[in-house]
Amino acid sequence: MIRTGLQIDGIVQGVGFRPFIHRLAEKHALNGWIRNSSSGVELELEGEEGNIAAFIADVRDCAPPLAHVDRVTAHRLDGLRGYSSFEIVRSRAGDRMRTLVSPDVGICDDCLRELFDPDDRRYRFPFINCTNCGPRFTIIEDIPYDRAKTTMAGFAMCPDCLAEYRDIRSRRYHAQPDCCGICGPSLFFLDASGTPVPGDPIESARRLIASGGIVAVKGLGGIHLACLPEEGVVRELRRRKKRDEKPFALMCRELSDAEDICLLSAFERALLTSPSKPIVLLKKRSLSLLPHISENACIGVMLPYTPVHCLLMEGRFGRLVMTSANISETPIIYENKEAVESLRGIADGFLLNDRDIRTRCDDSLVREADGHPYFLRRSRGYTPAPVRAPMELDGVLACGAEQKASFGLGKGSDFFLSGHIGDLKNIESYDNYTSQISHFEKLFDVSPDLLACDLHPDYLSTVYAQRRAEAESLELVRIQHHHAHLASCMADNGLDRDCIGVIWDGAGLGTDGTIWGGEVLYGGYGGFSRLCSLRTVPLPGGDAAVRDIGRIGYALLRDAQVSDPEAIVGGEFAFLASMLDSGACIFPTSSMGRLFDGAAAIMGIRRRVSYEGQGAVLLESAAADAGNPYPVEFYENGGVRLFDHRELIRALARDVRAGRSVRAVAADFMQTLCAAALAAVSYAAGVTGCRDVCLSGGVFQNMFLLRGLTRALRAEGFGVFIHSRVSCTDEGVSFGQAAVAKRRSN
Ligand code: ZN
Ligand code: ZN
Ligand code: FE
Repeated sequence: MIRTGLQIDGIVQGVGFRPFIHRLAEKHALNGWIRNSSSGVELELEGEEGNIAAFIADVRDCAPPLAHVDRVTAHRLDGLRGYSSFEIVRSRAGDRMRTLVSPDVGICDDCLRELFDPDDRRYRFPFINCTNCGPRFTIIEDIPYDRAKTTMAGFAMCPDCLAEYRDIRSRRYHAQPDCCGICGPSLFFLDASGTPVPGDPIESARRLIASGGIVAVKGLGGIHLACLPEEGVVRELRRRKKRDEKPFALMCRELSDAEDICLLSAFERALLTSPSKPIVLLKKRSLSLLPHISENACIGVMLPYTPVHCLLMEGRFGRLVMTSANISETPIIYENKEAVESLRGIADGFLLNDRDIRTRCDDSLVREADGHPYFLRRSRGYTPAPVRAPMELDGVLACGAEQKASFGLGKGSDFFLSGHIGDLKNIESYDNYTSQISHFEKLFDVSPDLLACDLHPDYLSTVYAQRRAEAESLELVRIQHHHAHLASCMADNGLDRDCIGVIWDGAGLGTDGTIWGGEVLYGGYGGFSRLCSLRTVPLPGGDAAVRDIGRIGYALLRDAQVSDPEAIVGGEFAFLASMLDSGACIFPTSSMGRLFDGAAAIMGIRRRVSYEGQGAVLLESAAADAGNPYPVEFYENGGVRLFDHRELIRALARDVRAGRSVRAVAADFMQTLCAAALAAVSYAAGVTGCRDVCLSGGVFQNMFLLRGLTRALRAEGFGVFIHSRVSCTDEGVSFGQAAVAKRRSN
């Protein structure tokens, strides 16, 4: 007999870990206790030495599905205490707990089996869940997490559910949202006018969808619009939703329904079936497949993640279009009343329920890159699990950017990053942003004492930070946008040393007052220098040109002194020419995103776009897998080396005029950018002696560039770091802002 102390670190709180340990101790005939600690759980075990060793092996091998054991440290303790049982004890007073709130979890295999088991008491019960799955973040009003502080408070457990809740051997031990057909929420179906329809709500919804209708379906973090993936139905959905071309996601009933249309890697399969159940961006089997759903080479696919989804699709639909219920770019609708009012004329029916959603949370969008997850949107299923930073971020509120807004709150070295919020220029999105900040501060028990925001004075996130700093006399640190991207990628990779950053994105305010976006920076959290960039081009009309990308193409051609630019881009540009001549309403920019837009227009891919980044996405889709670079030239200006893309633009114009295929030209264009980045990084490495390169910014959603540049840099012996925990887009910058603010403030 010996006595051993154990410390287990990792994701081991709020995931059914203590009951699991309790059962494990019984299995190995061990006595003692367990309690939550500030970094995980700690326990004491008394029993035979061999049993303790077997126990430790089981901790790693049999941990509950949502737990993640980082480290187990054991140390022998002197003497025996003579424990007579194993107990879960209170945490030590004064220990600063990591208050974690679990993300929402897609239905688990056990619940799925019970859902379709006629002998189970929850057979076909649309709200079945357990300790391993179900709603969490989206129903929590306050902490500590128990039913009374969730939107399940109004549903009192029946005796059967209560017995399971109290039984440590049950999969539903302490499962706060647990319920059954007797005590749980109910599902109902409303027609287009919001009138209840009698009968089985699932059947009513299925019938309407099968006949080509569009049905609003309440999920975990909001309401979706669901319909058949057929062309006529989808066209109608686009008309009603005012969404012309932006791709929709598909919900596939089984993996095989996804494999019919996409080739899946083992990693992508694992992502799709993971408890977070994100939308995974997959390559279609051919570019021309399902063009009415996605006009580009990829398509977003997810599996059913609530019991309602499973019942809806069961045996009838292999694939359904599933898109957030909102109009244009407003936040996802999540309340019953609001749904019926706002979706009038959009939804033909409503499959709703009386379990309220406290906090809206959009579907996450992830893809595979370099054998890791690569987030395009980190939201449902991940929010609000903290991202660990390589430093203390205690008390920082980082306010993010504007168009892809997000914020994050630091506590210890945890960073609690918000989900997708969207464009703050939208009043509903802005309200969602401010109310979620308050909610996070309450949930994680943080009153910020340091604020971080972007350098851009007009971003609504900056305005918010500034007002708040004044009102509460808080320190405010303003961080240059691309520096924040670099810091975000460093923190994502746990780095705390100076790095080279290739930061390519749409736009961000530079320290010189111009719009940057094609940057090669060098620095760390404390500061940076700008070593390379793109030749600045005058961008006519600022934001207007973002949609009218023909204007950017024209401006680039003119800048490169290509004759007859109108003929290439197609259109009338006299007005634009006079603007460029006079310099009125002209904004100089070095944005890589805009260079992409302009190139797409020059290649004849698009003149106008209906959503941001469309030109770049279509250019990537059109391109061959590999290309040959056009000549790459740089020149020096004010201590910064600038990539001179005039030669590139002239070569593009020449090839387009000669009728060379878009497939070849697009690949050569991107290959040129890889070559330019490699040259810029080599120059930066020569100046600084640094060999570590971070890639960040929205342009790195482009896989041709991400893969091509990663490969090229590694071949030259550089260490390459890309994002894997937060998004490379502006949604991820708050992480970098927090790190920089903390370092500058210290
Ligand atoms: Zn379950
Ligand atoms: Zn019940
Ligand atoms: Fe950005």
